[in-house]
Amino acid sequence: MIASDEIAIVGGGIAGLSLALNLHKRGIPSRVYEAAPELKELGVGITLLPHAMRELAALGLDGEMIAAAIEMRESCFFNRFGQLLYREKRGREAGYPYPELGIPRGKLHMILYRAAVSRLGGDRIVTGHHCIGVEQEGRDVRLRFRGRAPVGCAIAIGCDGVNSAVRRQFYPREDLAFGGINSWRGVTPMKSILTGHSYMRIGSIHGGKMVLYPIADLGGGRQLVNWVVNIQSGKPEKNDWNKPGRIEDFLDHFKDWRFDWLDVPQMIRGAEVLLEYPMVDRDPVDSWSSGGVTLAGDAAHPMYPRGSNGAAQALIDARVLAEKLAEASDRRAALKAYEAIRRPATSKIVLANRANPPDFINIKVAELTGDKPFDDLGRFISQDELRNLSEQYKRVAGFARADVN
Ligand SMILES: Cc1cc2nc3c(=O)[nH]c(=O)nc-3n(C[C@H](O)[C@H](O)[C@H](O)COP(=O)(O)OP(=O)(O)OC[C@H]3O[C@@H](n4cnc5c(N)ncnc54)[C@H](O)[C@@H]3O)c2cc1C
Repeated sequence: MIASDEIAIVGGGIAGLSLALNLHKRGIPSRVYEAAPELKELGVGITLLPHAMRELAALGLDGEMIAAAIEMRESCFFNRFGQLLYREKRGREAGYPYPELGIPRGKLHMILYRAAVSRLGGDRIVTGHHCIGVEQEGRDVRLRFRGRAPVGCAIAIGCDGVNSAVRRQFYPREDLAFGGINSWRGVTPMKSILTGHSYMRIGSIHGGKMVLYPIADLGGGRQLVNWVVNIQSGKPEKNDWNKPGRIEDFLDHFKDWRFDWLDVPQMIRGAEVLLEYPMVDRDPVDSWSSGGVTLAGDAAHPMYPRGSNGAAQALIDARVLAEKLAEASDRRAALKAYEAIRRPATSKIVLANRANPPDFINIKVAELTGDKPFDDLGRFISQDELRNLSEQYKRVAGFARADVN
């Protein structure tokens, strides 16, 4: 049976739910098919950069996000001896019209989910539907699900994440690209660090790197702090969003990281959640769309999670795709028009995240100082040069102030 006007969305993550909300806003009916039996709060923290918040504000969800998050006011770069390299204002503090937030990933997801259920209706977000393939015949599209009846539709959008079944249909031999870097992510309840609104990067990828930021206030000057450590490694493992991690696999790299402003080993030991995740992406491809099917979010452009940009790009995909579908008389042409805008833009970010990661300030300073403590950083590099490096990355990643405004 072919459902006439309805758009089928495979995957109820950030891309899928925001696409459903964007379509609804433009009067286009859709239905989300999510593999998980129920949607619940999973994962650790995520950063929403101002361009992600611009998209959420357009959906009327910025207030709820801000209430569930910590607003970042500054970003600070440190070497592995805890010495400050460079500090800059962030979000509204830096003159952006939208804030930059640290938020529990599950809270972000549940805000999107509740909005989708209340605006579209609960029957439009269908759980327990694991897509295993998509077939097309003429102008009809048919989605196949594990242990379920197939679903017909005119248009299907694969929003099923980094291991997308819809993408696999088009690229059956494609593999994940492992960057040789393993990550462990944790959340620790602790006394707030620096301003309590600071995003911090410590060390460089060559000797072990940590990114940390608060995601919730616990009262009494305590916060939930989200942290990610990256260590270069040779052996790829199958990625899994929620694989439990083991402290003994990485603590040794950080055992001497005791600064007057943060005791890293203590923070790691205090984690109440700990997950392991290898850094993977996929090579940009030449096409996302075929007939009545296209891809969005991580299914289209999985990227190394080191520029805090994946969710933002998924949200932008959702808006652009909904705009094109609303404008078009031919929906298949709309998929191509969406792809013509979004594929080149996101391919650039995937490649930039590989070659030019946002911790290159830390890498550059480690190179210049021989990875040793310094007395006077200015002898090696000026603050203006560091600022230029930071601005350059923001332009590539699409969140320079002029672009977001
Ligand atoms: C360690 C890590 C840290 C990150 N930190 C940040 C950050 O700070 N800021 C940021 O912007 N981004 C970050 N990202 C990236 C961001 O989380 C992703 O880019 C974003 O979640 C993409 O959304 P999505 O909806 O495309 O995919 P997902 O969020 O992965 O959602 C996919 C959905 O599809 C469902 N699904 C999967 N397969 C099927 C199937 N076969 N059938 C039906 N449903 C299916 C899944 O259950 C899931 O609900 C991070 C990523 C990682 C790995």
